[in-house]
Amino acid sequence: MTILPYRGRFAPSPTGNPHLGTLIAAVASYLQARKHNGAWLLRIEDVDTGRRVPGADASLLRVLEKFGFEWDQAVVWQSSRTGLYQQALEQLIADERTFPCTCSRKLLAQTATELSGIYPGTCRTRKPPLQHEHAIRLRVADVTIRFEDAVAGEYSQSLTRDCGDFVVKRRDGLFAYQLAVIVDDAQQSVTEVVRGADLLDSTPRQIYLQRCLGYAEPDYLHLPLILDRHGRKLSKSEGSAELDPAKPGISLHTALSHLGQHPPAELAQARPADIWQWAVENWDSSKIPKTPSILK
Ligand code: GLU
Ligand code: ZN
Repeated sequence: MTILPYRGRFAPSPTGNPHLGTLIAAVASYLQARKHNGAWLLRIEDVDTGRRVPGADASLLRVLEKFGFEWDQAVVWQSSRTGLYQQALEQLIADERTFPCTCSRKLLAQTATELSGIYPGTCRTRKPPLQHEHAIRLRVADVTIRFEDAVAGEYSQSLTRDCGDFVVKRRDGLFAYQLAVIVDDAQQSVTEVVRGADLLDSTPRQIYLQRCLGYAEPDYLHLPLILDRHGRKLSKSEGSAELDPAKPGISLHTALSHLGQHPPAELAQARPADIWQWAVENWDSSKIPKTPSILK
């Protein structure tokens, strides 16, 4: 077996101002890459153009620069890569793994409540006229996908029971995140995906797609969620989650603390270059907590 050189990535969606949760994912993926003497790639996940906030990508890059991140290779924007997603989709279609789905939003909402969000398979065997507006779904096999997450441990999901046939190309013509992300990770030869635990339950779908397309399967490390004082998912409006690019040390110190790294207090006043030196030397991914952390 050949050991591939480590290639990590940070793949934010430009949907608003970066906050502490964004920074934590950036820091952890960056340190994993640096610790392994690997590459750290930056990809702007703007495949869902409807959710894109104008200027959010540029401000994200500015903030990352202020915080002293250095990325390898040119930044990639998903919105300019639809040709790659189309190729992957055509392979799935040629292998007869997909079907067009003409279900209306209303019909899906009705049946989804009965089946706790699982697609009922309405169009699975139907051959609807293709001139109708339709989504394209992947027909999932009755298999259980298991993988070992570096933080969350063993994770498994039955595709038919927990997930169902899922959309790879949306009714509005946009490619689904699930497809775009695995095409990009494969095309960029990513060896480990480091990201927030909110995507843990998407991972089996992504692994399934990788297998359908014959791609290599990267390793996974999902970071515990960070919650606000009320136990809710961190939102951009939570004041203490805001990043102050004028004082990068404070936010980097907080991010490292949430990642279980115990940075010394005086590091909060240090320059990013010194913080990174300490962080790369001391980074230990086995110290990442397994449970959500609460923002103070
Ligand atoms: N673009 C996704 C987000 O910002 C992350 C996707 C990923 O890391 O796979 O939530
Ligand atoms: Zn349907």
